[in-house]
Amino acid sequence: MTQSADWRTHHSGSILPALGRPQRLLVRGQGARVWDETGKEYLDLLAGIAVNALGHAHPALVEAVSDQVATLGQVSNYFASQPQIALAEKLLEVAAAPQGSAVYFCNSGAEANEAALKMSRRVAGGGRSKVVAVAGGFHGRTMGALAMTSKEAFRAPFAPGVPGVVHVPHGDIEALRREVDDTCAAVIIEPIQGEAGVRRHPAGYLRAAREATRSAGALLILDEVQTGIGRCGSWFAFQDPDLGEGIVPDIVTCAKGLGGGLPLGATLTFGDAVTGLLVPGQHGSTYSGNPVTTAAGLAVLTTIERAGLLPAVRGLGQEFAGRLRLIDGVAAVSGAGLLIALELTAGNAKAVAEAALDAGFIVNPVTDTRLRIAPPLTITEGELGEFLDALPAILDTAGGTAA
Ligand SMILES: *Cc1c(COP(=O)(O)O)cnc(C)c1O
Repeated sequence: MTQSADWRTHHSGSILPALGRPQRLLVRGQGARVWDETGKEYLDLLAGIAVNALGHAHPALVEAVSDQVATLGQVSNYFASQPQIALAEKLLEVAAAPQGSAVYFCNSGAEANEAALKMSRRVAGGGRSKVVAVAGGFHGRTMGALAMTSKEAFRAPFAPGVPGVVHVPHGDIEALRREVDDTCAAVIIEPIQGEAGVRRHPAGYLRAAREATRSAGALLILDEVQTGIGRCGSWFAFQDPDLGEGIVPDIVTCAKGLGGGLPLGATLTFGDAVTGLLVPGQHGSTYSGNPVTTAAGLAVLTTIERAGLLPAVRGLGQEFAGRLRLIDGVAAVSGAGLLIALELTAGNAKAVAEAALDAGFIVNPVTDTRLRIAPPLTITEGELGEFLDALPAILDTAGGTAA
């Protein structure tokens, strides 16, 4: 593609239409800022969908990835590598996982959930196939992850899907309890439902899920693909006393922020009983534990720790949410840490996101009426302030303020 060529034509002539047609071509990023091919600058408040935890081109990530790819790029599961082991140990440490816990590395959130689903098939010696998922939940687009995803429009065209999944209404503790019987292999829950619009569960929900799964002998799988790795102000959302209600899950899946921009997912098993569900030969991936992506993950975790980003995320998120609530046209603000959605009083989120893009801000219309904001964890108060200052005019332009 030449510099002067129309990238839109080349994109639509070569990229699968299923992915949609982007509005901008980005060429460069630095910190919380990105630039398009015309040189226009944007404040990136989406970070590749809650992925670029350290922002763009963070020196620690650049160095870790460059050094590793120049040293040893891929080894397969026939060999071990230092970054793989180091990241697994670090993940188990920050998750405060008990003795006997372990990590399976993969390349995406969907794959992390596929591994968890396969583990659930081995519960109680096998034979249980019921998986309880929650309405509004999103778990990925591959067939197993898709079956657990609630949105009918995502699943219907691909029927028959993986059988056994039951979706219970959001927030209904009794409905959840009813479904978790002795045929149930697992319950899968996002601590905050990201794709549903950064939606929380009612108080007591996770605790009820923990009690029900424990007494049924089923697994409690927490999908922390979006909420994990510091996004909500603790390493994992379940560790936040308010979000996690003090529970310890059986499996946690993560991805997005974990690789800081490189494709990396992980399935964490808590305790040796869960770790032992899959025996040698029952699962794997060519790239599992790839040295370059795990080196990236290690750089992400050590930087979050060294830079004190967890308390920073909590503080920034609270302040930002508080100031958003004061803006005319913002009906409500949901989320935790730097995973935030604002509900618009009027107008549609897509139009507002487009107006924001024109004004130099990348935000995501996660539902028809909600904008999702999930910036790099390294974003500053000043940068968030730029958006707060610009938002009233953006809402005006898009017709998004209350009449
Ligand atoms: C993004 C996401 C997934 C899917 O991850 P991919 O890397 O796109 O496969 C799964 N679960 C949740 C909660 C997510 O936000």
